[in-house]
Amino acid sequence: MTNILDVKVNEFMAKVIARNQGETEFHQAVKEVVESLMPFIEENPEYKFSKVLERMTEPERVIMFRVSWIDDKGEIQINRGYRIEMNSAIGPYKGGLRFHPTVNLGILKFLAFEQSFKNSLTTLPMGGGKGGSDFDPKGKSDNEVMRFCQSFMTELQRHIGPNTDVPAGDIGVGGREIGYMFGQYKRIRNEFSGILTGKGLEWGGSLIRPEATGYGAVYFANEMMQTRNDSIKGKTVAISGSGNVAQYSVEKIIEMGGKVVTLSDSNGTIYDPDGIDEEKLQYVMELKNIRRGRISEYAEKYSVSYLEGQRPWSIECDIALPCATQNEIDVDDARTLVKNGCYVISEGANMPSTPEAVEVFLESKILYGPGKAANAGGVAVSGLEMTQNALHLTWSREEVDAKLQVIMKNIHETCVKYGKDETGFVNYVVGANIGGFIKIANSMIAQGY
Ligand code: GLU
Repeated sequence: MTNILDVKVNEFMAKVIARNQGETEFHQAVKEVVESLMPFIEENPEYKFSKVLERMTEPERVIMFRVSWIDDKGEIQINRGYRIEMNSAIGPYKGGLRFHPTVNLGILKFLAFEQSFKNSLTTLPMGGGKGGSDFDPKGKSDNEVMRFCQSFMTELQRHIGPNTDVPAGDIGVGGREIGYMFGQYKRIRNEFSGILTGKGLEWGGSLIRPEATGYGAVYFANEMMQTRNDSIKGKTVAISGSGNVAQYSVEKIIEMGGKVVTLSDSNGTIYDPDGIDEEKLQYVMELKNIRRGRISEYAEKYSVSYLEGQRPWSIECDIALPCATQNEIDVDDARTLVKNGCYVISEGANMPSTPEAVEVFLESKILYGPGKAANAGGVAVSGLEMTQNALHLTWSREEVDAKLQVIMKNIHETCVKYGKDETGFVNYVVGANIGGFIKIANSMIAQGY
């Protein structure tokens, strides 16, 4: 029998799909949220009558622009730049910039949509946004990256500001790119202010910002495990990716007594059954952040296996931290993980599990922490960076880390509050979606349409 709520979800989605054709990742992100929220909205008609969900699925503003720059051969290159200003009900637009050849409108809209909920969950006053470009930093010289960043910011600067829209990093945008963009903003506007987060420590950045997403994802895994009187100590952990989020997840897992056995990049996975220790992690950081090399070099250096073209999900583990990109765990990967005994998933990446994979995790009743809750530590510390900039002061490492831990605890509590079912099982997807929604929805209603 078809459920009336399913009919309503399908009707809602038919409109979203018709208005946003071909934007499959955006459809996917919206559908998950609408499925979680429909029962809640039906029980709370003020949200239904104000059409708040319909409004939330339409960006407040979409900015698309040409980015032309000159490569090292003297040739003109053209890329497309974007900024999605999704929702400003609870604060200035906030969210990262992604530079990757797969970037398109649909991907950035899904990310901006997720970001609005994530930012709301942090308890800090940040709206949702996302931006980026189809520029591929891979294989580009430092000068090329700088010229691209300068050209990108030459247009973006007119749309952002410390009280308007505050971008940060995401895939392909780290400290180097933030520096080049910040410099260009300052050059054009003659203004030193917190217009980007993830800045260098000497020029307005926050301690713990580079670590925050990875640390936060591990803190979130720990919170989930504590509900079952369990801990990370002695557990085997599979991590995908090898960038910033993966690296600091490894660091925190080591500190908490767990053993990380995998890392990956788009070419393949390394499997180190002895575990990645601090020294090996230092090597990975140097390899990825300074030499910008491939993870396969790790396998050569430490004589461990390299699974070419594969993701880490066939490796036995207790905990999986997907820290690479969207849809990197499909239904077969999810089944393999669960079959091999994995019972904790904490998503460092945004929407790394397909809807069918999420279904497998929820049906198996394992601890599944969706990205918008589990990886909110990064943007949370961005919020703390904004506060420090506004106050013209810097907090110590200990202070920021303590605040991050409290925020991750609060997010976890919110998920439990809205996600616990009659049997006591916590559906963190439902919890995060309802918990993130309420604050934005109430603010939108208060502010009128
Ligand atoms: N790109 C990160 C995210 O997905 C960080 C955003 C930020 O710090 O503004 O949450």
